[in-house]
Amino acid sequence: MNKIVAFSKRKGFIFPSSEIYGGFSAVYDFGPYGVELSNNVKAEWWKAMVQTREDIVGLDSGIFMNPKIWEASGHVSGFSDPLSECKDCHARLRVDHLLEEAGIFADEKMTEDEINKLFSKNVKKIKCPSCGKSNFTEARKFNLLVKSNLGNFTGSWADEPVYLRGETCQGIYVNFRNVVDSTRVKIPFGIAQIGKAFRNEITARQFIFRTREFEQMEMQYFISPSEEMKEYEKLRKYRWKYYLNLGFKEENLKWHKHENLVFYAKEAYDIEYKFPFGFKELEGVHARGNYDLTQHSKFCGKELNYTDPISGEKYIPHIIESSVGVGRTVLAVLTESYTEEEIDGEIRVVLKFPKKLAPVKVAILPLMKNKEELVKKAKEIFNNLKLKFNCEYDETGTIGKRYRRQDEIGTPYCLTIDFDSLENNDVTIRNRDTMEQKRISINELEGYLFKNLNE
Ligand code: ATP
Repeated sequence: MNKIVAFSKRKGFIFPSSEIYGGFSAVYDFGPYGVELSNNVKAEWWKAMVQTREDIVGLDSGIFMNPKIWEASGHVSGFSDPLSECKDCHARLRVDHLLEEAGIFADEKMTEDEINKLFSKNVKKIKCPSCGKSNFTEARKFNLLVKSNLGNFTGSWADEPVYLRGETCQGIYVNFRNVVDSTRVKIPFGIAQIGKAFRNEITARQFIFRTREFEQMEMQYFISPSEEMKEYEKLRKYRWKYYLNLGFKEENLKWHKHENLVFYAKEAYDIEYKFPFGFKELEGVHARGNYDLTQHSKFCGKELNYTDPISGEKYIPHIIESSVGVGRTVLAVLTESYTEEEIDGEIRVVLKFPKKLAPVKVAILPLMKNKEELVKKAKEIFNNLKLKFNCEYDETGTIGKRYRRQDEIGTPYCLTIDFDSLENNDVTIRNRDTMEQKRISINELEGYLFKNLNE
């Protein structure tokens, strides 16, 4: 993990927030290569969850919403983590996580009393991860919603705080009616959205795994009550396959079934990934019954039901969801791709990204920078290819160093322009993974790259 953190900063993937001011805990910034990587992660998700699905549409809802939404969703009263403090070293700890480490599952909706009972019953099995002692304060529920001071409203919510959204799916639920009325969707159908969410996480650590500002990719699928479990199984399979298509090794993924379900849930599984600190949740795939639309209907006073156009059956749609963080996916992709290889007694660091996720697809390298003809030819190639692929032009340092630099950021192909290129109108193309080099005619370059980058 330390290697990945240091590497991500050194190579311009991920920077700690506000570093020159001494930092700002649990927020990270994506650097020049990180933003390309995260954009590619989002594009792949959008392709799989919206563009290739006739039954799913996209949405981009606001971060600020009517405060009543967070009451309806249960976040104002219930969206909270149980917090305890180690009496010896004063570390602040999440009790549900401590219990989980000891093999005891605590549902996130448990009351303070319930969690304290479970905590004191099992406290002998639990040690403070910072100092190793077992001397804790009682758990106190800590609300996760981040308040803003946006205000000056008139109306029934004038005195309530406006929150930054704690999850993106509420924006989907409250637009259910709008989407049904304005498009041709029919149940079963889904609404997908990518966007920022904010949580006052108490124990934000493990790099970008848990941050206070993060981005979610969520898809809520609306179904008839009788189809819920059938559709749920389909969604689980679809999401599993998605990760395999994204290049994850199957042995690094596993399903984790929730044992103690919230009262409204039908079933809940997480897809866990083998992060450097062990298997942890990457994505949640949950069957939520009709809780969400029922709650919103109750709080807004409007009917949120659906009438089947064929059978005439009227019901409040049930929902199954797929929910995953962009940052967690980026961390999983970095973990999966980071490779060290020994080549001629030296360590070569390569990010073996799936080509579709690689921040830079092609590097264009004139053999020497002070030879005008080489530079001119290389720039010509760069100016043409940059319109089609994300390219990088680099003329500084020896060719070997430039190859290594591209290996480190995971660029699938390097093109070298030398004196033969001027004679024969061809270049050397080097493959990141095999390091194999071959000559290819400049006229065939574009077709070759299209074919190989999209495989
Ligand atoms: P955890 O148990 O890890 O706190 P959660 O069960 O609260 O997560 P959800 O509310 O189901 O998570 O959110 C769905 C997804 O959003 C998670 O699977 C994760 O990928 C991402 N996510 C949630 N909280 C954070 C966070 N603080 N930082 C980064 N990603 C997050």
